[in-house]
Amino acid sequence: MARFSTFKVGGPAEAVLVAESQDELVMLVQWLHKNKIHSYVIGKGSNILVPDTGLKGAVIVLGNKFASLEIEPNDDQETKKSTTLVNAGAACLLNKLVKYSTENNLSGLEFAAGIPGSVGGAIVMNAGAWGGEMSDAIHSVTFMDPEGIIMSPGKEQLQFAYRKWGGSKKSIVLSGVFSLTKGEKNKISATCKKYQKARKIKQPLGIPSAGSFFKNPQSLPAGKLIEDAGLKGFSIGGAMVSPVHANFIVNTGKATADDVFAVMQEVQDKVLHSSGIMLEPEVHILGEEGCQA
Ligand SMILES: Cc1cc2nc3c(=O)[nH]c(=O)nc-3n(C[C@H](O)[C@H](O)[C@H](O)COP(=O)(O)OP(=O)(O)OC[C@H]3O[C@@H](n4cnc5c(N)ncnc54)[C@H](O)[C@@H]3O)c2cc1C
Repeated sequence: MARFSTFKVGGPAEAVLVAESQDELVMLVQWLHKNKIHSYVIGKGSNILVPDTGLKGAVIVLGNKFASLEIEPNDDQETKKSTTLVNAGAACLLNKLVKYSTENNLSGLEFAAGIPGSVGGAIVMNAGAWGGEMSDAIHSVTFMDPEGIIMSPGKEQLQFAYRKWGGSKKSIVLSGVFSLTKGEKNKISATCKKYQKARKIKQPLGIPSAGSFFKNPQSLPAGKLIEDAGLKGFSIGGAMVSPVHANFIVNTGKATADDVFAVMQEVQDKVLHSSGIMLEPEVHILGEEGCQA
């Protein structure tokens, strides 16, 4: 799975299956469910950690047919004038959605400029930055349950919270509709560029990682707690606490998933000792969570 993960670590899955159409996906999901085979759906792998022992069962990847991007009619008389709805397929790159919105003078997703990954992954993670998160812009989400049934609840039914959505772990997000406000292309573009520039300064971008490894506790950012525990640059094998941003665990070249787990554990222990706070991974560890049958 190393090649399906931006961390570039992880052992083999029993099968990686690319669903090329919704019909194919329905058949696949129903077959896996009937045969009680575990499965995982992944997006672009920018927030996952796969153990070196690999994954039992199948990994599902959504193919190009799930990467559509289009403006859809807004029938709501109250919001029609000010709001435009954009429908994005789960496999569409989040940055492509941000670019498309900018080109169409639509504001609301600037915060997401530079966040790697797919629209589906960003919805499930409720990805966010600079005070914004996906749920701010989401209007509704279409997903498939393990029996192949498709539904499209509105945002209020989905109980988004910090870095998570309320949908079942067994659901596969197919697309999302985003409610964006009309704005000026130049202003939207300038905000996106400002955020992208700040990322380049604050984050170790040229080196494999899964972004911020731990969730920020309410009291202090995880990066500050890790830095205060003296762990910047701490490494085990090929995994290291980034000297640029302490909440990034990076793969310096030859890391194994075990190296990453060992660094994770050491960081949790040391931060617990120095601050009394137990850091919780933001990165999804497959094989533990996300397992579907
Ligand atoms: C350099 C870097 C910077 C980052 N910066 C940020 C940041 O600023 N803010 C932030 O929030 N995140 C950040 N991340 C983390 C990551 O980019 C986001 O969490 C992203 O939204 C994950 O999308 P993905 O497609 O890669 O999902 P994946 O990593 O493939 O999957 C993440 C989770 O979502 C599930 N999933 C994926 N697609 C679907 C689907 N279609 N249906 C159901 N479940 C699905 C997977 O099973 C897994 O549990 C960063 C990562 C990197 C490497």
